[in-house]
Amino acid sequence: MNINTLEKEIIQCRMCERLVRFREKIAKEKRKSYLHWEYWGKPVPGYGNQYAKIMILGLAPAAHGGNRTGRVFTGDKSAEFLFKCLYQVGFANQPNSDFRDDGLEIDGYITAAVKCVPPGDKPTAEEKNNCESFLIKEFQSLKKLKIVVGLGKIGFDSCLKFIRKTYPIKMKDYKFGHGVRYVMPNDLILYGAFHPSPRNVNTGKLNFDMMVQFFNKIKSEIN
Ligand code: SF4
Repeated sequence: MNINTLEKEIIQCRMCERLVRFREKIAKEKRKSYLHWEYWGKPVPGYGNQYAKIMILGLAPAAHGGNRTGRVFTGDKSAEFLFKCLYQVGFANQPNSDFRDDGLEIDGYITAAVKCVPPGDKPTAEEKNNCESFLIKEFQSLKKLKIVVGLGKIGFDSCLKFIRKTYPIKMKDYKFGHGVRYVMPNDLILYGAFHPSPRNVNTGKLNFDMMVQFFNKIKSEIN
């Protein structure tokens, strides 16, 4: 399936009642500093290149980031950090990701395991399962995919669950950590990386040099 067709399908989804209510509530109430914004308030599809060799896979859109702007990793602190790193390495054409149609182009594909913002950034197991079918379609659409970066443990585990559908792998054999690398039975390479959340960045768990070094390693593996 073409990713543009898939995007249209995702945007219309209303399967998880709790998340539909939550995403629309946030879009209506807004954050004070964004009162002038018309919030997106719908599922946030992945974006990037149909022929991507690398997928960056996070957890879910942020309440006032992706849920506001309509593009994942766009318009919040995590996006600010991530795109400075991706630009430095040459995976993005600009160091900022502010809103849809801001001119951003990425050499890859970026998405989230759950396409709607969950309360407290915690989707239920049922919601993760509901949204899994979209992630599977994304995997199936990206025919040139070689590397998946699980940004945070849920992104990492979501890739493992996808693989587990076809191959008898055991989740416990794949430990999440920053920089861990596994070759999966279908030859896909799975990396783990700390999520570029303000909490991880402000506490020094993750910094710019670490993330640039990480993506540079991946870049050398792709080329
Ligand atoms: S989380 Fe996924 S399955 Fe649930 S409503 Fe949003 S797009 Fe649909």
